[in-house]
Amino acid sequence: MTNTHCPYCSLQCGMTLELKGRALEVRPWPEFPVNEGALCRKGWTATGLRGHRERLTTPLVRDRATGELRAAGWDEALDLVASRLRELRDEHGPDTVAVFGGGGLTNEKAYQLGKFARVAIGTSQVDYNGRWCMSSAASAANRAFGIDRGLPFPLADIEHADVLVLVGSNLAETMPPAARHLDRLRDHGGQVVVVDPRRTPTADRADLFVQPVPGTDLALALGLLHLLDAAGAVDEEYVAARTTGFDDVRRSVAAWWPERVERVTGVPAADLRALAALLAGADRVMVLTARGAEQHAQGTDTVLAWIDVALALGMPGAEFAGYGCLTGQGNGQGGREHGQKADQLPGYRMIDDPAAREHVARVWGVEPGLLPGAGRSAYELLDALGTDEGSKALLVFGSNIVVSAPNATHVTERLASLDLLVVADIVMSETAAMADVVLPVTQWAEETGTMTNLEGRVILRERAVSPPDGVRSDLDVMAGLAERLDSPVPFETDPEAVFAELGRASAGGRADYAGITYDRIRDEHGVFWPCPTADHAGTPRMFADSFATSDGRARFVAVEHRGPAEVPDAAYPLHLTTGRVLAQYQSGAQTRRVRDLPDDGAFVEMHPMLATRLGAYDGEPVVVTTRRGELKAPARIVSTIRPDTVFVPFHWVGANRLTNDALDPASRMPEFKACACAVSPVVDVRGAPAPSLETTSAGAPT
Ligand code: SF4
Repeated sequence: MTNTHCPYCSLQCGMTLELKGRALEVRPWPEFPVNEGALCRKGWTATGLRGHRERLTTPLVRDRATGELRAAGWDEALDLVASRLRELRDEHGPDTVAVFGGGGLTNEKAYQLGKFARVAIGTSQVDYNGRWCMSSAASAANRAFGIDRGLPFPLADIEHADVLVLVGSNLAETMPPAARHLDRLRDHGGQVVVVDPRRTPTADRADLFVQPVPGTDLALALGLLHLLDAAGAVDEEYVAARTTGFDDVRRSVAAWWPERVERVTGVPAADLRALAALLAGADRVMVLTARGAEQHAQGTDTVLAWIDVALALGMPGAEFAGYGCLTGQGNGQGGREHGQKADQLPGYRMIDDPAAREHVARVWGVEPGLLPGAGRSAYELLDALGTDEGSKALLVFGSNIVVSAPNATHVTERLASLDLLVVADIVMSETAAMADVVLPVTQWAEETGTMTNLEGRVILRERAVSPPDGVRSDLDVMAGLAERLDSPVPFETDPEAVFAELGRASAGGRADYAGITYDRIRDEHGVFWPCPTADHAGTPRMFADSFATSDGRARFVAVEHRGPAEVPDAAYPLHLTTGRVLAQYQSGAQTRRVRDLPDDGAFVEMHPMLATRLGAYDGEPVVVTTRRGELKAPARIVSTIRPDTVFVPFHWVGANRLTNDALDPASRMPEFKACACAVSPVVDVRGAPAPSLETTSAGAPT
């Protein structure tokens, strides 16, 4: 029996794995506090990929003569990769090699990947798919609080809030075990507010549901703060003692009266007033954002606007109150702390900080001058591939770019233009299928490593079974390539030794793991960072006395609503938004292959009024078109979505052919959640021409 954690989302539910004969079975681990033994169906079926017929167990190399992938030995594959990287590096310089990581990699792998890129290859071109997930919340939290930890308090604190506001989060579907906190909150007399363009299962549990047009959450927050200020609900004492910048914010929200907010967001002024009254009368308000608010070209500003609301009410740092981000990917938190991000070094240090470079270089045993500077962000890195300015080789670890990148047709073309694409994965993902070399690596339960969950709790995924013959860990792959590339320092392959090194590299940084060990994690059900020394208890709750800014005060930031980069017009008259479904995870490379999880494929969710106008029928195919591509999928007709909006889940190839690659200026997060689209039935099953979709002068469908 091995106590470990689920391979999927950021809740990192505890579970026990039991090997029965050849079968690996999932059991509850009730003592682990985050989920108390509960799992969603993805967790219960997580062993479904073990022994899967599509599991990769031998390196594959693309044969130049046939163009097909063929089996190869590890030495042949690694020698080939290293020699091609050397040639390209010698001819074009180190930045011609790019490295792309993932928010599902363990802390050890994410740390090692940043070091591998900068030391073994010498490239600045390293980033990861978490840039597309939580980076707007991260940049907002860094700006407002001086530090970015998704939740600055344990998740269970939710239960004790008076009002919980969820902005763009569908946690009842994306992390069902967390939804029990909503029920307990309500049992305690608290109230839940959900802000979402779709009436999701989470919204069904809400006391107040607010349904704005996609991409207008920022305007909603401005209008809310306008009303709170007008009602005298601002905590002036807290604002004076613990913050700076409120006067600018107060001025900036003055013009956001409710009727103007209604025109922009589609939220009735009465609903906004009801929300303001709810918050004004509560002692403990908690505001949590997720991808619905964050994955926008204005994602950072949107989060800042909601942080402004929380600060004006005096909540951050108060007990059972404040602001937090519900991280998405399994290691979305740890993955952004230890150096696989283009502008960062371990411990959440910035790569352009001379003191940070000095510290990390000393731990790595190299000269600070050897470390390259900041590279391109994830989408910009991919967008430049194969161009004169961009990289000509790409190494991918733990990411399925072909499915998960925005404007995916363009990104796939960039991947196809590479001189060398190397993918380390457990199955033949859509990205691996394009690779010149595919390296089969160990998966969850076959390897040990730490993750940092959405609370900032560092937990340990223990190895429960041996990997199949022929596969190696990502750490082995990096060490093998580093040696062949004549790295100035060797690369460790033992996860616990890598974690100890990560601790030294993070010491003194914002995300300080120096006092955390595998044994402590086992004994304490995880340890919250920062934890600078072995005798430090860890930090479950932050900001009680001060914020992590230079003067200890939180920053109000005045922001303006601009709206999505692309809004509906005559040619593309509808809003498109994307998201997840209960049974699938991220690009679906894993969950689509688990037999016990339903794989119904993509669908196009739309309101009955819209379907009637379009001539679309439930279950019949429709085509969604944007300026970047199109997707054909069955219509799913539901009354829970706005009539001017369609929704497509992103777990299957196609959704991201539609999405917009407009980037947030601060976080470089693409605008996955809002763009303009047109929808038409593939055939009119009544045999009549499909009615045209007319628009109002404002661009909204009539
Ligand atoms: Fe796994 Fe997340 Fe489901 Fe928990 S909620 S079982 S971590 S996918």
